[in-house]
Amino acid sequence: MINHNKYSFIVFIDRDGTIVEDVGYPHKISQLELLPNSKEGLNKIKKSGAVITIISNQSGINRGFFDIEEVNNFNTELLKRINDKNKIIDEIYICPHLEKDQCKCRKPKILNLILAAKKFNIPLTKSIMIGDKKSDIQTGINAKIPTILISSKKLNFGQNFTCKNLKDASIIINKIANKNNWK
Ligand SMILES: [Zn+2]
Repeated sequence: MINHNKYSFIVFIDRDGTIVEDVGYPHKISQLELLPNSKEGLNKIKKSGAVITIISNQSGINRGFFDIEEVNNFNTELLKRINDKNKIIDEIYICPHLEKDQCKCRKPKILNLILAAKKFNIPLTKSIMIGDKKSDIQTGINAKIPTILISSKKLNFGQNFTCKNLKDASIIINKIANKNNWK
């Protein structure tokens, strides 16, 4: 267990369609494109005192579209582009399974959130889920934590907040953290 005294809450963030362009199972470095305001938003979220972990369904692995090594290479490149000299994204959790595999880590199931909370020694109650899909919002609802939908469309998946990108999300995150005395 890592004891992060300076961090008191966790922000769980979906990868494809939330941090990077979702081109449909992106896995090659040539497909890696950060969404507008992604990097700036992640920096601001980190400055608010959050542990940041990516929670990503990568069923392309068990579909045979690509293997875990390609996912790891893609994620290493993503970390390189985001982290610079400071560590912004702390950890990446992926689920390789299909729905029929009946695992406990595929969103909207919450095993990977529980594992992250345990690793960083922060109660799951002090966390926020962000994503662009219904399954991301349902993950947050299942974990009983605040949810932010990243979308420019008017969609209602039961989320608490909606905004266009991670920079706008960072403002909402600050408000949630202040309101709950997470700092
Ligand atoms: Zn899984």
